[in-house]
Amino acid sequence: MVLQSKLPQVGVTIFTQMSQLAHAHGALNLSQGFPDFDAAEPLKDALQRHVHAGHNQYAAMTGLAALREQVASKISRLYRNPVCPEQEVTITPGATQALFCAIQALVRSGDEVIVFDPCYDSYEPAVSLAGGRCVHIALNEHDFSVDWQQFAKVLNDKTRLVIINSPHNPSGALLSIADLNQLAALIRERDIYLLSDEVYEHLVFDGQLHNSILAHDELYQRACVVSSFGKTYHVTGWKTGYMVAPPKLTAELRKVHQYVSFCAVTPMQYALADFMLAQPEYVDQLPVFYQRKRDQLCQALEGSRFTFTPSASTYFQLLDYRNIRDDLNDVQMAQWLTREHGVASIPLSVFYQQPPRDQYLLRICFAKRADTLALAGEKLCAI
Ligand code: PMP
Ligand code: GLN
Repeated sequence: MVLQSKLPQVGVTIFTQMSQLAHAHGALNLSQGFPDFDAAEPLKDALQRHVHAGHNQYAAMTGLAALREQVASKISRLYRNPVCPEQEVTITPGATQALFCAIQALVRSGDEVIVFDPCYDSYEPAVSLAGGRCVHIALNEHDFSVDWQQFAKVLNDKTRLVIINSPHNPSGALLSIADLNQLAALIRERDIYLLSDEVYEHLVFDGQLHNSILAHDELYQRACVVSSFGKTYHVTGWKTGYMVAPPKLTAELRKVHQYVSFCAVTPMQYALADFMLAQPEYVDQLPVFYQRKRDQLCQALEGSRFTFTPSASTYFQLLDYRNIRDDLNDVQMAQWLTREHGVASIPLSVFYQQPPRDQYLLRICFAKRADTLALAGEKLCAI
C-alpha cells in the first residue's frame, strides 16, 4: 500500500525540533514558548482538590458552566461585550483545538483563507485538511504591520475566512483600532468570517491596550475569538482554552468540537473556574509582570551584538543577529547558537511561505525566572 500523505509538506514542528536540540545539548531553552516558573499555588491546590473530590469524569460538551460564566464575566469587564456563557462561550482542550474546530467548521473545499506571515504554524495544516488554501500576505518587514492595500487586492469570491493574531506571535506587534476598522470596511459587503487568535490578550506592554475583536461590535458578528488559559495562568501543559462566537456560529463550531474531543479536561476546568472567581483581577497584573521580564532581558542584552526593538506584547522578543553571523540563515543560526553557545531560539523563516531575503531574526521566549534571564543575558553577551 502506498501511503499518500494528506499533509505532504508537514514535518515535525519547529517547537519540537528546537526543544529536542536544546535538550540534547543541555542548552537554555528559550525556543518553544512556555514559562519555567510555576502556576499560582491556589490554582494548583484547586486542581488537587477537585481531582480528590472526584471531578474526574466527562465535563459538559460546551464546557463547565462555572468556567464559561467566569470567561463571560471577564469579557464583559474587559471588553464590554455581554456574551452569553450558554450560547457564545465554548471551553476546548487548548487554543489549538479551538482554532482547528473553527477552521473545520468554516472552511469548505476550494475556499481561500487569508493569513499573515510570519504566521503561527497550526493554521495552514488545518486549512489544508478542510480542503481550503491559505493565501499568505507578508506583514511589513520593519514593524510587522498589515498592508491593507495588499489585503484588498487578494480578496475575491473564494475568500471565506481571515485569520488574525494580535498580540502577534512571533513579532509582538499589535493591531490598532484603525487596523480593525480597515478590516471591517474591506470585508463588510462579503461573506467572510474572521478567526481571531488572541491567546496573548493579557500580555501587552508600555501602557498599550489589546484591541480585542470581542470589543469590536461589527467584526464580532462574524468572528470566532480564541484564547488560552495556558498563557494567562502559566499552565501551558493544562491544554485548556476557549472560543467565543455569536450563537449561530457557536452552534456550528460545537458541531465539530463535539466530535474532535467532545469536551475539555474536567478537573482543570473546575480549578480554573475557582481561581477566576476568587481572583478576577489576576489578569490585570500580567502586563507589569511580563513587562519586567522583557525589560530585564532587554537590559541584559544591551551589551550584546544583537540588535532589537523591545517587544510590544506576548512573551517573545525578536533579536537581529546580522552583526554576529550574516553568513548563516536563521535556521542554521538557531542550531549554531544552541550547539555552540547553549541558547535555543526559534528561527523566523519557518513561519513564512516566502521568507524575506534580508531577514536575520530569531525569536526568544522571556517567560522565564529572573535567574534564567540573567544566564541568558550572560550567554548571549558572550557571543
Ligand atoms: N496560537 C498562538 C499564536 C500560540 O502562540 C499558541 C501557543 N502557544 C497557540 C495558539 C496554542 O495555544 P494552546 O497551547 O492553548 O493550544
Ligand atoms: N505556541 C508555542 C510557541 O509559539 C508553542 C506551542 C507548541 O509547541 N506547539 O512557542
